[in-house]
Amino acid sequence: SRCYSAATEEVQSEAPKGSSVKDSGRETVKGPTEKREFQAETRMLLDIVARSLYSDKEVFIRELISNASDALEKFRYLSVSADSDTLKLAEMDRPLEIKLSTDKQNRTLTFQDTGIGMTKEELTENLGTIARSGSKSFIEEIKKKGAEEANTIIGQFGVGFYSAFMVADKIEVYTKSSKADSQGYKWTSDGSGTYEIQEADGVPIGTKIIVHLKTDCREYADEETVKNIIKKYSNFVSSPVLLNDEQI
Ligand code: ADP
Ligand code: MG
Repeated sequence: SRCYSAATEEVQSEAPKGSSVKDSGRETVKGPTEKREFQAETRMLLDIVARSLYSDKEVFIRELISNASDALEKFRYLSVSADSDTLKLAEMDRPLEIKLSTDKQNRTLTFQDTGIGMTKEELTENLGTIARSGSKSFIEEIKKKGAEEANTIIGQFGVGFYSAFMVADKIEVYTKSSKADSQGYKWTSDGSGTYEIQEADGVPIGTKIIVHLKTDCREYADEETVKNIIKKYSNFVSSPVLLNDEQI
């Protein structure tokens, strides 16, 4: 099968790490980097996901698009229900959309949405713990049935955001909450025990997720491949999805 996990194959890095000039856009990090540990159950989940031989790895694209779509729905809801204190009205007339971009040279696939974004607390809570139903059920099943059953169980429950670690050796998240006066943040992790958070300027409201693909998962930096995968799922998404600036 394609796209083996790092655990089963020697992975060599070709492009220098952290050189995603194109993807990083206008964001600039500042101040101290806070290093934090994932919650124990999250570490267990990430460990299983990263080693997984689950064959349907492309589902991470569906999961990240569906999160972007949820974030846009939440923003739409807020924009009709919230008062101007809680929303940054100046930035309300931007397009509500999901943009994917492939970068073969840097071996990245990037997801950008103009949804609700996350505060620092939300980043820590939402991407650092598994309070969410899908991942919780996954861990409960693993505890019952054992890690050998992981592939079947990933398929059954889905592991949301963490599914991206099936194909990534690093994930960077830039996000800024739509709440008024929010600071932007960069969250980054290689999916092992820890993640880092740093303040970032120049982050637009919403969330950008840069998936740095493992060498053997480079196919997900290929435009045609990604286009075909998006087409399978985009029917279920209520916001426009663009790939390399072209509407899908
Ligand atoms: P689920 O979607 O089932 O809640 P996920 O693992 O897919 O679980 O995502 C975890 C949480 O992270 C979401 O519930 C949401 O709060 C937050 N999140 C993920 N992606 C985004 C995004 N693009 N914008 C805002 N919040 C997000
Ligand atoms: Mg999700």
